[in-house]
Formats: sequence, C-alpha cells, structure tokens
Amino acid sequence: MSPVQMQKLYEGKAKIVYATDNPQVLLTYFKDDATAFNAQKRGIITGKGQINCAISTHLFQMLAQQGIETHWLETPSDREMVGKAVEIIPLEVVVRNLAAGSLCRQTGLALGTALSPPLVEFYYKNDELGDPLLTRDRIQAMALASEEQVQQLDTLARQINTRLCQFFDQCGITLVDFKLEFGLDAGGALLLADEISPDTCRLWNQAEADIRQRVMDKDRFRQDLGEVEAAYQAVLNRVLAQTNSL
Ligand code: ADP
Ligand code: MG
Repeated sequence: MSPVQMQKLYEGKAKIVYATDNPQVLLTYFKDDATAFNAQKRGIITGKGQINCAISTHLFQMLAQQGIETHWLETPSDREMVGKAVEIIPLEVVVRNLAAGSLCRQTGLALGTALSPPLVEFYYKNDELGDPLLTRDRIQAMALASEEQVQQLDTLARQINTRLCQFFDQCGITLVDFKLEFGLDAGGALLLADEISPDTCRLWNQAEADIRQRVMDKDRFRQDLGEVEAAYQAVLNRVLAQTNSL
C-alpha cells in the first residue's frame, strides 16, 4: 500500500508518520525537507529521505544486534521505515563527545574540545519554546519523565554512544554529538525511536583536517558549506561498507 492511501497521523519537519492496520505499528516516510535553527531556515536536500532511511536502518539493526531495544521492524522501501508505535517521551536526549553547536555558544568551550566523560543533556522537544535545555529538576517539575526514567535514559544514551562511536570510528568518522528520542511501547517498554542520521548527528571525516571540509552532517546545510547531498551519501557509503564487513 502506498503512503498516499494510508492515514497520515503526523507530518513533522523531516518525516511523515502513517498508521498501519496494526495500531501497534507505524510507517514513517522520510522526506527530503531540511530545516535548521528551529525551522527558521528551510530547504531541500535531494535524496536525503532515502539516505537517512538507509543509514537509520543500518544503525538500528547494528544496535539491535548489540542488545539495544529499538522501534525498528523493517524497511519495506527506500524511504519507508516500519516501526513499533511508541508514546514519545518529549525529551531530546543529546550525547556530546566533542564540543560543538549550542554547547560552544552557551559555554564558550572551543569547537572540538574533548568531553570525557561524554555529556548527556536533555532538551524539551517543543518547537514553540525552541527546544530549551532542561535540568533534571525541571524535568520533574514539568512531569516529563520520572527520575527513574531519566536515569534509564542517561544509561541507555551512554551505551548507544559507546556502540555508535565504535562503529563510526571504523567508518573513519568521528561522532561529535547526536540526538536521540525514546518512547514507551504498548507494553510499557522503553525503546529507542525516531532516526539516527546526518540530520541528527554531527559527523566529522577523520581524513580531513579542514574544519569546513570535514563536516559530513546537517551543519553543511546550517552553515551553507555546500555539497550537502554528497556528504550525506558519503556517510551512507561508509556505513554500508562497514556493515557489509561486519
Ligand atoms: P519533528 O518535526 O517533530 O522532528 P519528524 O519529521 O522527525 O518530526 O517526524 C517524526 C515524528 O515522529 C517525531 O515527532 C517523532 O518524535 C515521532 N516518532 C518517531 N518514531 C516514532 C514511533 N516509533 N512512534 C511514534 N512516534 C514516533
Ligand atoms: Mg525530527
């Protein structure tokens, strides 16, 4: 069945979520639309939908093989991912290995400063408020997640970081930082959901020293560095090569 005939539940900035005939299963369609700076900057990255769908698929499969529970079930076509329906916890869980982006702007830490141990940060997933940085006390005050869930999210995010860092390193890519979303399935299990792609990660090519040339992620779009599609495609090529050699 094509997405056109299916019930659209939600259209986000990068994906469209459709219901399936099983209420516990959703289909996500990956678009080429790109947004940055809380959707103040908009554009199209041709082919991004396919590339992000493929990269996410490979990373979710890799994480599942290593015992991390994810929403991924199957990838029936090149822009569509079928996954378990979850109630998304409205927290963006960000893991940072090197300082970049808003961390540099807010703290004065220099771009690329090593963060050891990595930082795990929680942002409120709310476009109207501009996805603000939260504290653990604010999460409790807003009743976004229990203290136990926050601890679980922190632990899971660090485990996922360890595995993703190792995988990307084998691809010749440094995982600078990334954003995760988690949700609860019908049985109450906490699952990794959404996507892991160059839209949601900062990825630096280890073969390039130049600070502009090395960027392989959405910063090419944010900062108008050019060759955005080529960078995303290069990430996919390396992920595929590495996946096939595992
Ligand atoms: P946004 O503009 O909110 O970032 P996207 O374009 O990324 O949205 O579309 C995906 C939407 O679907 C997000 O709101 C995300 O939280 C949600 N989502 C991702 N995976 C699941 C899932 N397994 N079950 C329910 N919702 C999901
Ligand atoms: Mg999103």
